Amino acid sequence: PSNPGLDVCDIRRLVREAHAGGALVAVDNTLATPLGQRPLELGADFSVASDTKGMTGHGDVLLGHVSCRDPRRAAEVRRWRKIVGAIPGPMEAWLAHRSLATLQLRIDRQCATALELARVLADHPDVTGLRHPGLPDDPSHALAARQMRRFGSVISFELADRARAERFLDELRLVDDATSFGGVRSSAERRGRWGGDAVPEGFVRFSVGAEDPEDLIADVLRALDASRKATG
Ligand SMILES: *Cc1c(COP(=O)(O)O)cnc(C)c1O
Repeated sequence: PSNPGLDVCDIRRLVREAHAGGALVAVDNTLATPLGQRPLELGADFSVASDTKGMTGHGDVLLGHVSCRDPRRAAEVRRWRKIVGAIPGPMEAWLAHRSLATLQLRIDRQCATALELARVLADHPDVTGLRHPGLPDDPSHALAARQMRRFGSVISFELADRARAERFLDELRLVDDATSFGGVRSSAERRGRWGGDAVPEGFVRFSVGAEDPEDLIADVLRALDASRKATG
């Protein structure tokens, strides 16, 4: 899924057309994680990700990875990394290694809760433009169901305007107002604050963590209610 709009690209088709034109294909798999989508099996030449996000999941380490179909490409990437010097430190490598032991537990829980929350938001009168590839009527669902093994822990939606979205984020108690995503602690942000993405003022990107699902959904519904009362 793309970030922050959550559109899913047809990787097999992109690969077919790119390869026909002599191009290589790199997929940014940050949002999906390797448990959610396996780009190399779909034909991509490279799968790249920020492991700062769901892969390590605790918001305590900056890392990334590149995986390659062709071992010769891997050797080129490794050589480039060696020369540029972007080698992870032992502490970072240890933190990542520790985190990988819970990857499946975290991702399963976070994806399940994300779908549950998305279903609740789908019925909420104040929420528009809801996107999550796991929702059966999402524009990307059919493709995501063919291509992904898990639909991810991120949801996006719109509230009426900037004031409403800001107040909603302020009212949340279990959810940090933060840019990163994929962590065990839920986070959300009004994406328009950066000015870089073409998103509406009330657009919220919401990353679902590993909290108790009922607690989290109750917190979101309460914050929607409180922010409606506060901003009319
Ligand atoms: C966060 C993110 C990055 C940047 O990664 P860092 O590990 O924070 O440097 C790059 N691409 C995507 C899709 C991201 O979500």
